[in-house]
Amino acid sequence: MMKIVPEYFGSMVFDDLSMRARLPEETYKAMKKTIRDGKHLDPDIANIVANAMKDWAVEKGATHYTHWFQPMTGITAEKHDSFILPASDGSVIFDFSGKELVRGEPDASSFPSGGLRATFEARGYTAWDPTSYAFIKEGILCIPTAFCSYGGEALDKKTPLLRSMEAINRQTMRVLKLFGNDEITSVKTTVGPEQEYFLIDKEMYNKRKDLIFTGRTLFGASPPKGQELNDHYFGSIKPRVLEYMKELNEELWKLGVLAKTEHNEASPAQHELAPIFTTTNIATDHNQLTMEIMQKVAKKHGLVCLLHEKPFEGVNGSGKHNNWSISDNTGTNLFEPGETPHENAQFLLFLCAVIKAVDDYQDLLRVSVATAGNDHRLGSGEAPPAIISMFLGDELSEILDAIENDTPYGGKEKVLMKVGVHTLPRFPKDTTDRNRTSPFAFTGNKFEFRMVGSADSIACANIMLNTAVAQSLMEFADRLEGCSDFKAELQSLIKDCVKKHKRIIFNGNGYNGEWVSEAVKNRGLLNLRTTPDCLPYLVSAKNIKLFKTHGVYSETEIRSRYEIILENYCKTINIEALTMIDMVNKDILPSVSLFVKTLCETVSAKKSVSQTAEYDYEEKLIKRLSADTDMMFERAAGLLKSLCETKSIEDVLERANSFKDNIIPKMRELRTAADDAERVTFAKHWPYPSYGELLFGVR
Ligand code: ADP
Ligand code: MG
Repeated sequence: MMKIVPEYFGSMVFDDLSMRARLPEETYKAMKKTIRDGKHLDPDIANIVANAMKDWAVEKGATHYTHWFQPMTGITAEKHDSFILPASDGSVIFDFSGKELVRGEPDASSFPSGGLRATFEARGYTAWDPTSYAFIKEGILCIPTAFCSYGGEALDKKTPLLRSMEAINRQTMRVLKLFGNDEITSVKTTVGPEQEYFLIDKEMYNKRKDLIFTGRTLFGASPPKGQELNDHYFGSIKPRVLEYMKELNEELWKLGVLAKTEHNEASPAQHELAPIFTTTNIATDHNQLTMEIMQKVAKKHGLVCLLHEKPFEGVNGSGKHNNWSISDNTGTNLFEPGETPHENAQFLLFLCAVIKAVDDYQDLLRVSVATAGNDHRLGSGEAPPAIISMFLGDELSEILDAIENDTPYGGKEKVLMKVGVHTLPRFPKDTTDRNRTSPFAFTGNKFEFRMVGSADSIACANIMLNTAVAQSLMEFADRLEGCSDFKAELQSLIKDCVKKHKRIIFNGNGYNGEWVSEAVKNRGLLNLRTTPDCLPYLVSAKNIKLFKTHGVYSETEIRSRYEIILENYCKTINIEALTMIDMVNKDILPSVSLFVKTLCETVSAKKSVSQTAEYDYEEKLIKRLSADTDMMFERAAGLLKSLCETKSIEDVLERANSFKDNIIPKMRELRTAADDAERVTFAKHWPYPSYGELLFGVR
């Protein structure tokens, strides 16, 4: 019989409950303090914790442990070591020391370091992040760790994320003190990432080199039906998919992942899973785990889970909505509009901090979601445009308007909004008709950043968001600390902030073409369409200063990320282009040619029966397909030539731009010819499963 959920939830996690049960009280207390204060663990305590953790893991069937970390590849890394230790009598015992728990030394040399390796030591070390619990995955005790070089440079995504959480904590605490919140000792940002994905049949997947090598289809004529009937979104879930979701939930629950909501998404074969929000670094770990488990469980069900941002042309791609907020140590959400004028004043100030951050650091938010895959989504009418703007809703916008202009606000009894004196009206939370086209929306008590790509780690988006908001709060605290009339200064600060940053607020339809010209021409907002367009902003003087000020990235670290992201962009498109050339030359051309041969044979056969036989269909098709094959052959050769030229470009930004300007258009032309051929080729002769089969194949 299946266990009931509460019994196995978190059963594979060495969480607070397990620690309390297995650690001596003193050790448990010391451990809690370490987690709370983010301090280093005393070596004696580490030994006791390691031993208890090992006993727990071995009881659960684990034989190995690994430091589980998040290098800049965007996925997680692990290297397994067994617990065995030779004993003096020739046998072995299971052993795990505090030292092994706290620190590991994987060879860093094969992970992307974007030049950091050249300047610093090749070796790196991993250090336990005790704020994220250890867990068992497939018989391996996984210890969540940060990954740094010996020079102290972050080689991963977790270290800067933790630093950004510290930065926002520091500045938020300054602001909270100004409002007299003396009982609050710390704040953490919280995140609930909604994860979109596609599920397709594994057998069909195995027949497509493009899916295998690149995670997306590089060819494929549109099927007769796409998503136009809106019959998949929230539709009833097919039994095979339900079985998958059930097992996925069970596996995630065992790992303590708060998987909560599941539904079908807009495209056929597309689905979504949303967890309950939690502290940002844990949410990030959990999202990485979720993506991994999604793919593993799918295989068991004869399915493949595609996390690519745009696996199929013509239907929606996948993203990840990063729901973000700040919560204090008493559990209060700082973006929950309050009941009293005092609480409202604080809420408005925090709201302004985000408005300012999103406007001042539009470029960084855009950079935080920049990948070759996500470039297909942003601005293509299915996802937010590449322009960053912010949705607040009419009510909140009107309030800010009233404050900015000293105009009366309200229903019948209009009043002049005095911050800290008047109460805000209650605004509706999460109304169903709320704007879904905005890249950054206030949804009642949290912000939803909708531009993150489905395959991407959420670390980067949250690093940027936390740091940018920390900067706003720092400037606010600088201005408000020590001012003589707090309320008056607050009112004028909010007024100034709205005046300066209201250009970022846009409540209209972000998919509308007019918005693009309004945003760019009238408001001066950035429209950074592609990865190479936005990456130079990452290393601008303004942004390097931001990261340095808050201790989130050193200049070297930020430059290394610039390299890595651009290199990765180039490599991704290079693999895609090579895959296309391979598919055309080895599969598509020979297949179409064989089909043309059968058509020719039909013509000859018809002619041999009668001189006056009609072979209009065959002749026209032979001509059309011959034109297509000639084009494909030529275009594949042209693509290969351009690829060689592009790859030889030394400067990484120049190379990335050449991939964008020279390679991508040629890939498109090659695809057009192949897709045309697919439309009229006998299905049995086409070498790959069609879009129709892929998208509607899971029944
Ligand atoms: P929708 O699909 O309508 O955007 P969902 O309810 O599916 O909304 O997802 C909302 C997400 O926001 C969930 O993951 C939820 O846990 C998360 N969330 C709710 N409150 C907060 C908060 N205070 N901080 C961060 N995330 C939150
Ligand atoms: Mg959402």
